[in-house]
Amino acid sequence: MGNPHNRKFKCWAAACGNCGEGPSAEHLVSKCLFPEGVVRVSGFDWCKQEAKSIGINGLQRQILCKAHNSALSDADSEAKKAVGLFQRSATPTKDGSLGDNKIDGQKLERWLLKTAINLSYGGNLHIGIGMNGSMPGLPSPYLIDVAFGRRSFSHLMGVHFLLPDKATSHSPSEIIMFPLIKDGNIGGFYFELRSQPVFLNLFPGHAPPTLGAVAEKLGLQQALLDAKMVYRPPQIATISNSMPTSLIKLKW
Ligand SMILES: [Zn+2]
Ligand SMILES: [Zn+2]
Repeated sequence: MGNPHNRKFKCWAAACGNCGEGPSAEHLVSKCLFPEGVVRVSGFDWCKQEAKSIGINGLQRQILCKAHNSALSDADSEAKKAVGLFQRSATPTKDGSLGDNKIDGQKLERWLLKTAINLSYGGNLHIGIGMNGSMPGLPSPYLIDVAFGRRSFSHLMGVHFLLPDKATSHSPSEIIMFPLIKDGNIGGFYFELRSQPVFLNLFPGHAPPTLGAVAEKLGLQQALLDAKMVYRPPQIATISNSMPTSLIKLKW
């Protein structure tokens, strides 16, 4: 099942209509966000056995039509801005103002979701738990609607920010993403967006108190497994050398 290279082209948003302009070469993970970067992925059909580090250009597939691909570009821009803020270690000014430090959280969620779908498309796992119309390797109509901003996540689905109380280390040029899998279903995705870890929850009505509570053997640092998870926080502080350096405000 599964080498996406061998599939006949089918846009993953086709179930909700409005495809157009033929196939596009979508980067599974937006190139504009990580131009020099390496993405470390694991747990998907095409990299099941071990974590794979892949140059960003190696992560391109024909999985979205041009019309749907360009309808996601506002989510790409917001994610780019968010990642820029997450990695910034600016010195705060006296009044704490740092220019434009506001993120549209729902657009960031849409980017996380579409990236999660990109990586899972054509595999043998259900994307999300208990969703109407879900088929292995295909997003449900609900998830397609959320990805394109036609509806918003509810029931604790969406982004939970991990707020570790100890310092954690992150490779500056690498991002990490993997699904949390149970019984053939992807219950959520873990992302490290530079220095900010987040969990995209796709299990309606359920949210783990910590990542360590749902999966012990993730190969993550203990401080990340133990980190408090906060659903859609209105603001987060970025930390550098144990000092809060900037405040990021999130609109939901
Ligand atoms: Zn399409
Ligand atoms: Zn691209």
